[in-house]
Amino acid sequence: MKELTPKGIAIRVAFLLSFLVVIVLGMVLISNQLFLSIYYYFLFFVITLAISYFGFLLALEKFIYKKIKLIYRTIHNQKLKKEISNTNKLFFSEDIALNKDKDIINQVQQDVLDWVKTNQQEISRLKGLETYRREFVGNVSHELKTPIFSIQGYILTLLEGGLDDPTINKDYLIKANNSVERMIAIIEDLDEITKLESGRLAMKIEKIDIVQLVKDVVDSLEDRAKTAHVSIKIQKEVKSIWVMADYGKICQVIVNLIVNAIKYGKEEGEIQIKFFDMHDTILIEVADEGEGIEAHHLPRLFERFYRTDKGRARQNGGSGLGLSIVKHIIEAHQQTVNVRSSTGVGSTFSFTLEKAKGK
Ligand code: ADP
Repeated sequence: MKELTPKGIAIRVAFLLSFLVVIVLGMVLISNQLFLSIYYYFLFFVITLAISYFGFLLALEKFIYKKIKLIYRTIHNQKLKKEISNTNKLFFSEDIALNKDKDIINQVQQDVLDWVKTNQQEISRLKGLETYRREFVGNVSHELKTPIFSIQGYILTLLEGGLDDPTINKDYLIKANNSVERMIAIIEDLDEITKLESGRLAMKIEKIDIVQLVKDVVDSLEDRAKTAHVSIKIQKEVKSIWVMADYGKICQVIVNLIVNAIKYGKEEGEIQIKFFDMHDTILIEVADEGEGIEAHHLPRLFERFYRTDKGRARQNGGSGLGLSIVKHIIEAHQQTVNVRSSTGVGSTFSFTLEKAKGK
């Protein structure tokens, strides 16, 4: 159908009305034996047309102001100012005149539909956030419960006489302290992930030697690897490889991956760290010889608090956030992280970093 603008409606109605008025007038005059020239009828038609056109236009404008502007007020309140001025040209400005050259009904319908669509998207976004918030709070309290209850257990035993028992008192205090340390680690990881997720963490991208960084991290984890009877091997032939990255953040990535490889790797086993030149990027791989991860876990492995074996993972003392932090950091570098694993053979975690230009 053709566009129905206020001007279009007014001219149609005015035309019809003037036509009817002239016909009726003509019939009345003729029945009274009064014959006027056709020019008078035409003049009368034009005058009626002009008066009724402006009259209708005014009435329509008032009606639309009253009815439709109310709808628009609701919609406008929900829309961004910029959006209004760009997309909605029905009103020249919020409080001035109505644009009479617009197809009001279709425009209103379209704008209301757009508004409903935007609102539906907003509702689904808020629902998503709500589910995320609920799951996050649930997971955090679940994670904190284990160390809190064990601290309470040790303290109660000490209070109920254990304090005077030299065979357990020191031991229980050490265990309670370990649980406190576990809680601190969880809280630090939570803090880190909140910063990463809210985008508040500024990256300090600079030219760094990734091989040297890996060597430094491996040195710092030597004791931990020794205690677990695991040896860490860095690809021998590589010297320096320069990449663009945030030194501190990539240290954390390597720590998290090596610590996992120690925790979930094979006792007396080996962890291998390798570097591959991928044209524009460098691929860094951390491979262990542990039990591996079943294929169905792989797509969810980088989610917060996701664990393949809840019992074993908690026993190992992790926060359940290590891989999620790794993913956030690598994605903040606009790079990718990946995992491949075969049960009984081991797991290989890899990520890319942008090569630095020049030497
Ligand atoms: P955490 O180790 O604290 O539980 P992570 O986010 O670091 O949390 O790891 C998530 C889960 O992924 C672990 O609980 C474990 O089930 C699995 N996982 C991580 N790294 C390895 C690995 N190298 N080998 C086998 N499983 C792993």
